[in-house]
Amino acid sequence: MDAAGTENVSDAADDWRLTNQDAYLQAATLFLRRWFTHRPEWDHDHCEFCRAKFSDEGPDALREGYCTTDGYHWICEPCFNDFRDRFGWSVADSTDVR
Ligand SMILES: [Zn+2]
Repeated sequence: MDAAGTENVSDAADDWRLTNQDAYLQAATLFLRRWFTHRPEWDHDHCEFCRAKFSDEGPDALREGYCTTDGYHWICEPCFNDFRDRFGWSVADSTDVR
């Protein structure tokens, strides 16, 4: 018997990145696009899940990711891949942005 405490802590329901994103990201439509900001005073955003940084500046910042149609919420590619099934996201062509 393996009694060494092999608990399944990697279950998606217990992922440390999950807070209450489903309140605004459930079944969201996302665009894969280069990072931008619609707020002139804002020079970066963070991934909604892991807090990875999106910016035009800095060697460690992400240059592109998945954003909601309103451009307020950004998700990095690894988190997108981890959670797209759970949240039921669909990806739209960014040329559809109005
Ligand atoms: Zn992330």
